[in-house]
Amino acid sequence: MNKLKMASEKSASRVLMLLSQLERLNEEPKVSDNDAIRQTTGKILHLIQTQEKTRKEVASKSSGGMEIILSSLENTQDLQTTLNILAILNELLTVGGGCRTGVFVSKGGTALLLQLLVGSSKDPPANEELMLHIHSLLVKVGLKDRKLGVKARLNGALNVTLNLVKYNLQNHKLLLPCLQVLRVYSRIHFFMSLGKSGTLEIMFEIIGPFSKKSTTLLKVALDTLASLLKSGMNARRAVDRGYLPTLLTIYQDWHRNDTRHRHVVIRKSILGCIKNLTNIKLGRKAFIDANGMRILYNTSTECLPVRTLDPLVNTSSLIMRKCFPKNRLPLPTIKSVFHHPLLHIPASGPVAKLYNQPPGVDDVVDESDENEATEVDTENDTEYDEDETGPKTQNDDIETDINKLRPIQMNTRPFDELRAYEYFFREFSENFEDDDFESPRSVIPPSSVNSELHRPIIIPTTPSSLGPQNRRPPQEDLLTPKPDESPLELDSISISKRPEGTSDPDLVCSLGRLVLDAGVNGGSVDGPQDEGGEQAVLEVPDTAALLPLHDPDLYLEMVKSTRSVPAYTEVGYPDYFGHVALNLREPILERVYGVQRMKIFQDIERLIHPSDILDKVVYDLDNQSCPVTDNGESLKFNSKFESGNLRKAIQVRKFEYDLILNSDINSNHYHQWFYFEVGNMRPGVRYRFNIINCEKSNSQFNYGMQVLMYSVQDAINGSPHWVRTGSDICYYKNHFSRSSIAAGGQKGKSYFTLTFTVTFQHKDDVCYFAYHYPYTYSMLKMHLQKLSALRTAQIYYRQDDLCVTLGGNSCPLLTITAMPGSSSNDPISQFRSRPVVFLSARVHPGETNSSWVMKGTLEYLMSCSPQAQSLRESYIFKIIPMLNPDGVINGNHRCSLSGEDLNRQWQNPNAELHPTIYHAKSLLQYLRATGRTPLVFCDYHGHSRKKNVFMYGCSIKETVWQTNVNTSTCDLHEDLGYRTLPKLLSQMAPAFSLSSCSFVVERSKEATARVVVWREIGVQRSYTMESTLCGCDQGKYKGLQIGTSELEEMGAQFCLALLRLKRFTSRLERHNHNSHLLDMETDLIETRSIPNITSPTTYVLEEDEPAFLEEVDYSAESNDEIDPDLEPDLQDNHFCH
Ligand SMILES: [Zn+2]
Repeated sequence: MNKLKMASEKSASRVLMLLSQLERLNEEPKVSDNDAIRQTTGKILHLIQTQEKTRKEVASKSSGGMEIILSSLENTQDLQTTLNILAILNELLTVGGGCRTGVFVSKGGTALLLQLLVGSSKDPPANEELMLHIHSLLVKVGLKDRKLGVKARLNGALNVTLNLVKYNLQNHKLLLPCLQVLRVYSRIHFFMSLGKSGTLEIMFEIIGPFSKKSTTLLKVALDTLASLLKSGMNARRAVDRGYLPTLLTIYQDWHRNDTRHRHVVIRKSILGCIKNLTNIKLGRKAFIDANGMRILYNTSTECLPVRTLDPLVNTSSLIMRKCFPKNRLPLPTIKSVFHHPLLHIPASGPVAKLYNQPPGVDDVVDESDENEATEVDTENDTEYDEDETGPKTQNDDIETDINKLRPIQMNTRPFDELRAYEYFFREFSENFEDDDFESPRSVIPPSSVNSELHRPIIIPTTPSSLGPQNRRPPQEDLLTPKPDESPLELDSISISKRPEGTSDPDLVCSLGRLVLDAGVNGGSVDGPQDEGGEQAVLEVPDTAALLPLHDPDLYLEMVKSTRSVPAYTEVGYPDYFGHVALNLREPILERVYGVQRMKIFQDIERLIHPSDILDKVVYDLDNQSCPVTDNGESLKFNSKFESGNLRKAIQVRKFEYDLILNSDINSNHYHQWFYFEVGNMRPGVRYRFNIINCEKSNSQFNYGMQVLMYSVQDAINGSPHWVRTGSDICYYKNHFSRSSIAAGGQKGKSYFTLTFTVTFQHKDDVCYFAYHYPYTYSMLKMHLQKLSALRTAQIYYRQDDLCVTLGGNSCPLLTITAMPGSSSNDPISQFRSRPVVFLSARVHPGETNSSWVMKGTLEYLMSCSPQAQSLRESYIFKIIPMLNPDGVINGNHRCSLSGEDLNRQWQNPNAELHPTIYHAKSLLQYLRATGRTPLVFCDYHGHSRKKNVFMYGCSIKETVWQTNVNTSTCDLHEDLGYRTLPKLLSQMAPAFSLSSCSFVVERSKEATARVVVWREIGVQRSYTMESTLCGCDQGKYKGLQIGTSELEEMGAQFCLALLRLKRFTSRLERHNHNSHLLDMETDLIETRSIPNITSPTTYVLEEDEPAFLEEVDYSAESNDEIDPDLEPDLQDNHFCH
């Protein structure tokens, strides 16, 4: 042991000795010293080759070894010495990680090597060993020295290497390191120079036809080629020379011969080259011409069973998607089918833009060549929707103008104008001296009185009765069905209500339509009904016990006064029967590996086997005469009922349908909400549905959310539920191009497909599908009627019509509080001094979950528990449960009939165009002007891309803090009251997640209710409450999809949280009415100074989903063709700054 150590110390000191000897020789160079230097370096080399310890010694900074060696290299003219030194360096840099290379680079080693390379190439033939050494060193240097490329180009070394490659194609020993160097150059964007110098051609020579010899070399050559082909110019050159078919052939050869999959990396590299070639239009064309789709499709299909070949399948799929010819959405126009004429159309508004297009303009697809368009698009989107999540974009949206964060002090409207709103606050002036001392009566909306409303109401079913199995003699069916017989045939049934047990003459059904004759005279049965004459009793599920607020008859009454743009005369079964929350856990689906890939392959098959495609339109709102002749082989679709949305259905294959959603009315986009009916299904068959014109770039459907389905058969059999349904669900970018008109001016965009697969259980069922649990406007009116009936002597409940909407529907405004204890002074003044809580929901029609939360809130407020009473005694609730009735009725996703997002109109709402917002804001302005600024404002919403329930609030400090703007602005005074309610909710409501809350004010949100009410009305606790459409990933409901009972519970918990908030605010309020009541609250909310809050608000990303397993990068429209004239600049930018 000792001996060994001594020996090693001895040798170590020996190398140091040799180094200092070398140093001396460097300082006094004499020709006669050549031998000495040669010997010394030879000895050092020997030591280094045998002892790692020695290597360390030389490489250590303290020894100065590196400098000495480099300076010897610089000074020597002797070939053997040079070789010795290069060998020493190669030994040194081979191990020791990047550190030693780093030292080498920092001491100027790179430049020396390149000089040496260029110098020694001047008198050919170059010494092979020398070249070998230099290149293997350069490969190592390339890992550390980002400027290697620039340096090599500037001093001509690049061409030396290229020439070496050219003339040594058979000399693999030398070829390999040279190629490796080229690969290094090509990776650092040396596209153009290399391309011009014929590198492409050389690489193709090396790649040659299939051969398993020298695969290492091949891999390096392929990598180099792939990098070079990233340049558009190189790619064009390669396509011109016909390399694309060559690559495909080589790929097929490898696919056939590499049967044991030992060379997957090589196969992947070949695909890498094809992938880059197809970034340009020419390349995509060449790919199609060379039958690339079929080749890659077939090879991939063969690879599918072997999991280790996934990278090949994924890259192939990416290439195929990129090359898949863009299709036109099969529509005459993307403008909504229905148009609602506006009295007043602002010239700059979206509606004017929509309808002022010159006639004949095709808005479905851009006129320019689709491929041309894609080349403009440099978007590099992946499945994870990075284009919308980048932190940079997020930060860009944070409000940095401090003046836009400060409250607006003045009242913006004269009080005289607001005085009209006194009417809606009658509770403040009432004396409660009427004899009966009763809560005011709710009013049936006046708008309901309308002659047009006496049209027949039909509950839709698809007319499956046309099928032969339903063509039975009338007599057989006239009888009511035997009680135990099922399934019932829905298309030939007249409705009776089970409790009454008798048939209701008003509800007559035939030929697939349950016609509800709403006329007073009754009996107006139109033609088709007589034809059928087949009637049976449709038993309405008895939901009365489970659904106290539901009543089918009342629902129909409500429908009669609901005015829709398409003048719907039908009623959806689920809305009529009602939905009873499922008493069953519905877990968030685990994504099956490979689903998306499988679906995309099925889509690609449309191109490969076009003869399999039926392309049969089976439902078409644009062509009302569409209903196709029925051969019993197609599903029947329908969505002509309140909140329905389906524009077109195309049978693609026997059991596969493409579905197209209608745009919001007076708009040409916002497709996401859907609600439609399907009939004529075969049980036990897997049907695939594709909604092909979705616009959002990602969806919770990729993260376990299922669609909702309601089976009428099940409902009749005692299970009237919306149920989460569907397998093989995914959401991905498709091959239908989206015109720039609908994509905010951006060209080359595509739509997205939501696909799901369903197996129906019953024959002759009628099923409904929806994006989320439907909640219609008529349903709201029904619920309000039922709620008003729950009034007791203690409850003050009043329903007013805030205004009439553009579509002629009334917008209900509720006032709920406790009746004063008596009509004497004290109770009345307590009554009048209650703080106001202002709530609203459903400004976005597609966010039906917000209505279910609101329903929970309303039910709680009307309940008779002592807490509910206490809550009513604490506050006066002003509630607008549906801010956008028209949108809801007409099946819109986002907008009102003005074609605008109403939650972007709060800054400056127009009384004609945005009446509900205008008047809601006026109510708030009135409250402020009368010194009754609400304690809490909360607007209920639904969030399509996040889990749980959470809130957005407003805080100057948290906003400023997020932007890193001058921190002196943080001296602003701000109390933390805005955090109390979310904090309470996170303690009480299982679905609520505090960590998802954000209190940052974004520029893009400056016209939303939350921000405007906060700034202009001065409500400190002004919130948006977002409920997931999908489910929860924390708390009691972790791993479950959300249902209506969880949503309703959320609404009730919100009430309870308000009650607790009361305890924190009331005591303080008593002695200090109008200022910061927050000493108490701060106890609750774990405060230190803001920036140190233990769980600070993170700026909430739109997308916060983890990437899922199936990583398919589909930068289908990526293109990095560089303008050749710009390239030098780009390079300079890349390297010099
Ligand atoms: Zn919303």
